[in-house]
Amino acid sequence: MKKIILFFIVGLTIFINLSGNLSFSKLSFCEEELTTFVDSNSNRTAGSEGEKQTANYLEEKLKELSISPLLENYQQSFEYNKTSSQNVIGYVDNNAENYVVIGAHYDNVYKLDVSSGTNDNASGVVTSLNLASTLKNSNLNFNIIFAYFGAEEIGLAGSNYFLDNLKSDILDNIILYINLDSIGAGDYLYYYHYDAPTQYGNYIDNFANDYMITKLGTKRLYSNRNTLGINYNHIGLNSDNASFIKRGINSLNFFAGNLDVARLGFHETENNDTIMHNTDSLETNTEVFGERFYINMANVNNFVTDLLLSNDFADAMKVREINPILLTDWFLKVIAIIFVALLALGTVIFFKLKKSKI
Ligand SMILES: [Zn+2]
Repeated sequence: MKKIILFFIVGLTIFINLSGNLSFSKLSFCEEELTTFVDSNSNRTAGSEGEKQTANYLEEKLKELSISPLLENYQQSFEYNKTSSQNVIGYVDNNAENYVVIGAHYDNVYKLDVSSGTNDNASGVVTSLNLASTLKNSNLNFNIIFAYFGAEEIGLAGSNYFLDNLKSDILDNIILYINLDSIGAGDYLYYYHYDAPTQYGNYIDNFANDYMITKLGTKRLYSNRNTLGINYNHIGLNSDNASFIKRGINSLNFFAGNLDVARLGFHETENNDTIMHNTDSLETNTEVFGERFYINMANVNNFVTDLLLSNDFADAMKVREINPILLTDWFLKVIAIIFVALLALGTVIFFKLKKSKI
């Protein structure tokens, strides 16, 4: 009889564990959490009352998870172009030297009845909260900072403020920043680390082979925005990861889209249904993407979890090879001006020579 009871208990334990793991790949990954998040504050525009209330909501979530604040308080207030906003920062202290930062901006672009920032960026925030609940007791050989940035949409203000005011013993020891921004709406998932080859990028590329996530290739790097003809804000750099790259910090950015059918490719499907800021509601995303939205979130969640839990991860991330100067606006502007000037000079000389020959 004892054996039967023992057998039953062991069987039940295995079943519970298995169903726990299965929940990661469940089609309805975090559907309830996403709906709650979007419904509680659909207008989270930088500086708005809704953004502030969402910060309070995130603070409560971190408290529920028993995750401590990194700074004195969970919320870090700041001003940007006369807009008051705040970051919400949680901290998992593993008594380690190195840090991984997982970030998602929680402000949005709001339009009454048509856009509640469901993809951009409730999808990233909710996935990040799930990662926080998974990784808080993981005892890894690095500490983890969970950052929820405010005022991203008006110029990456939250992430820049956070980095500008971070103590150097943390700043210098961030081995990877992971950015989750708009990871639901798309036929495919993409990741981007850096344009040039790096040791940490190679490690991620090898790791990604087993996942349904595509590396953002050089052909698809550029968006429509450009500075004097040079596209600085390419697709992989349109979010808070740019603030980290500008400071030479290794980063990994995730986003969903379909770059095969769309020139910009942020949130388009094979049918060319565009999910941009003016149609980013829960209803539209559900109608266009259905379960795909949640599968994308689950895939990012699984990829990040497995990556951070892999044995040699921290060692592979330690070397910084990013040259921050190459990604600063002023540097590219100077290069562009020199280029245009040389081109003009060349044209003048060409016509003068041509004229003198005649
Ligand atoms: Zn975004």
